[in-house]
Amino acid sequence: MAERLNPWENALKQLDKAAKAMNLNPGYHQILATPKRVLEIQLPIKMDDGTIKVFTGWRVQHNDARGPCKGGIRYHPNTDLDEVKALAMWMTWKTAVVDIPYGGAKGGIRVDPHKLSPGELERLSRRYIYAISPIVGINKDIPAPDVYTNPQIMAWMMDTYSALVGYNEPGVITGKPLEVGGSEGREEATARGLQYVTEEAVRVLGIDPTRATAAVQGYGNAGYFSAKFMKELGMKVVAVSDSKGAIYNPDGLDPEAVLEHKKKTGSVKNFPGAQNLNPDPIKANQELLELDVDVLIPAAIENVITKENADNIEAKLVVEAANGPTTPEADDILHERGIIVVPDILANAGGVTVSYFEWIQARTREWWTVDTVRNKLRAIMSKSFRDVYNIRNEMNVDMRTAALILAIKRVVRALEIRGIWP
Ligand code: NAD
Repeated sequence: MAERLNPWENALKQLDKAAKAMNLNPGYHQILATPKRVLEIQLPIKMDDGTIKVFTGWRVQHNDARGPCKGGIRYHPNTDLDEVKALAMWMTWKTAVVDIPYGGAKGGIRVDPHKLSPGELERLSRRYIYAISPIVGINKDIPAPDVYTNPQIMAWMMDTYSALVGYNEPGVITGKPLEVGGSEGREEATARGLQYVTEEAVRVLGIDPTRATAAVQGYGNAGYFSAKFMKELGMKVVAVSDSKGAIYNPDGLDPEAVLEHKKKTGSVKNFPGAQNLNPDPIKANQELLELDVDVLIPAAIENVITKENADNIEAKLVVEAANGPTTPEADDILHERGIIVVPDILANAGGVTVSYFEWIQARTREWWTVDTVRNKLRAIMSKSFRDVYNIRNEMNVDMRTAALILAIKRVVRALEIRGIWP
């Protein structure tokens, strides 16, 4: 591809665009264009065969003006410091867009966790939290799951951190299993929040969800639950994909049955009754993005909607479950073509919002019902959509720039009030 696809450069371009539109003070612009703290760590692990392997990991804290840093931990063979920096910056915007009292952070390890045994995975996870323990904590920085990390990994990390400090500290990390201080509704939270903003978006666009079709790229936590909740809204989910392929059925897929099939076979591919898209998984995923559907939900990885394919997107509405799926150049093309993009920092903020609920519950040791979680989440997501949509209309900018303007205003206001010290 001709475009250089570096998420950190994309994040900076997005910041520049919003800064220009809102006439941001250059000093604050400079503060926001660099992370507050970057930690790179060496992670030596004893493998099952007795050898030692050294992995590299990071924790990046972008900004904490509005509260302790917050952000997930990603295990991926291609992750690098630039990706983690971009994700940390997006977390600052995300927590500000939904107005919860956090800053932004992100962590990552360059590893393919599928190649590790359960024991190796546990040792790596415990080593990672040990290595970042000086800079995390319930009032400092609260990690959570991201791509290829899960509640079990969060439980190992909470246990290790608790052992280090000498008392049980469930509030140090979110996305934990229910039995050790997790929250009801956390597993579905990202997609549940996405459902609430999609409801608002289809309303303003005049799309009847019961006559609409949707395609979802990626079938992990964000993708599966997004497919399930789009069906709940009455949409036909006609295509889904994962890293191994993509499937299509114009009459609609049953998200539960597809999940069962993926659990059994390792992929959504070859799902009975559906047509496989291109046999090449990369091409299949490209084809999925260009299908003639009303709603497109990228829920896998970054930089999938680029200037190469933005002209071919047929959807009227793109709702970003993944972080950073659309490049800045593609954003401009989609905006010119009248396609509404509900940006990641709004669309997938349900995850961090319920993480915030989990953190409150861990601090108070008072546990909420799933209905309480959903009602509080709906109130936050619907209001945040309307806040962003109003700025879009008032300032005549795209939805991402509107969301960034809202977020940057809130962060800069906190910086101004607190002052620069020492
Ligand atoms: P996950 O690990 O549960 O699932 C990832 C899915 O993406 C898998 O189905 C995998 O097969 C697929 N995938 C990987 N590479 C692919 C490729 N090249 N093409 C197509 N599919 C591919 O991860 P997740 O938690 O669902 O996260 C997915 C995205 O959503 C990420 O961008 C993540 O940052 C974002 N997100 C997740 C949450 C959350 O709470 N889970 C919250 C906010 C944002």
